[in-house]
Amino acid sequence: MDFKKMRPESLMMSHGYKPSLSEGAIKCPIFQTSTFVFNKAEEGKHFFEVAYGLKEQEEGEELGLIYSRLNNPDLEILENRLCLWDNAEDCAVFESGMSAISTAMLEFLAPGDLLLYSRPVYGGTDHFINHFLKKLGIHSIGFLAGESKEEIIRRIDESGLGHRLAMIHIETPANPTNALIDIELCAEIKKHYTTDEKPVVLSVDNTYMGPLWQHPLKHGADLVLYSATKYIGGHSDVIAGACLGSKASIGRIKGLRTFLGNMCGPWTGWLLMRSLETLKVRMEEQARNAVEVANYLKKHPKVERVYFLGLIPESGTAIEKEIYERQYLSPGAMISFDVKGGEKEAFTFLNNLKLIKLAVSLGSTESLAEHPCTMTHVDIAPEFKAALNISEKLVRLSVGVEYYGDIITDIEQALDKI
Ligand SMILES: *Cc1c(COP(=O)(O)O)cnc(C)c1O
Repeated sequence: MDFKKMRPESLMMSHGYKPSLSEGAIKCPIFQTSTFVFNKAEEGKHFFEVAYGLKEQEEGEELGLIYSRLNNPDLEILENRLCLWDNAEDCAVFESGMSAISTAMLEFLAPGDLLLYSRPVYGGTDHFINHFLKKLGIHSIGFLAGESKEEIIRRIDESGLGHRLAMIHIETPANPTNALIDIELCAEIKKHYTTDEKPVVLSVDNTYMGPLWQHPLKHGADLVLYSATKYIGGHSDVIAGACLGSKASIGRIKGLRTFLGNMCGPWTGWLLMRSLETLKVRMEEQARNAVEVANYLKKHPKVERVYFLGLIPESGTAIEKEIYERQYLSPGAMISFDVKGGEKEAFTFLNNLKLIKLAVSLGSTESLAEHPCTMTHVDIAPEFKAALNISEKLVRLSVGVEYYGDIITDIEQALDKI
């Protein structure tokens, strides 16, 4: 039997773990240990030589366990399992999505460099780019969904910093309105500015869709980033992150992770392995529910507009349809919608929800609702909020695994209160 031909969901319970190394335990134990005992001094010497790149790893040789800031079985097995979904060579897990994103940016950007990024990006990412990276002298240019390759290239050239473009970071579908960014278009921009001396790295924050419904590496991305707090963790009980890509690029990221010390702990690694076993069933059920909820909202007289990928085939633009067909395997389970009115009406709806919880975050088993304009996206400048449709009447919904009829009943009674 060829395990390599099996689908990820078949391997999430076993891949990378040998029960015989752990007293036969069927589940990987939590290796709650800071350090590992070497059999001989020579072995310790060899492990360190490999860890610090002084000696090449031999074919098939695994890096020996040294110290939990460098490696730990719960992290390594988790990383191996995450690789299967995105068909990536390697993975690095972090204590949060933000630490995965910030570590990748710090590794591939230097003072004076230019970062191109799609707008909107996650609030924390936006803040890191426009405050912290700026303080380091790293320039940035933002672009919106729908801008053409030529427009973006013209803006980069006008900045005079095209020769310093080092990284392109995008988020698609964009939180909170599900706006689509074309990964292949970004890969062409990357190619346009890549030289022998200066590679350009393309990273995609795939938190909204991944790792099931969008595979950015297939479309020319170098790095895939996740807040594993969301669908991967999926139970609103853990904060974690991940970055996937080639052996070479993840090698660099793991190098910086070792020195920043922001790897996730063994307990977090164990929780995520447990979550991965049900990832596909959870996400598929959430997506099925989301279709029902979106169809209900679309017809409701108190709802003005629904932002949901599942509606693109009937009402999207030609460009949206093309990107949707090429990039996505499902419409996902994130829905935003405009209620008729403004903040008052949106808050009345949110305050009256009973089953659905009023909270930020997304991708969990329970349905969550929030108000992007005053909560997750409060920091975005007013002129951008208007351009991005982040208005006072917008509500964001993360659809959970409850029975869809009960989710709709809750939405119905809360809309009735407006
Ligand atoms: C939540 C989120 C992040 C940040 O992840 P944390 O785990 O909270 O640090 C980054 N990107 C997106 C799209 C997110 O939704």
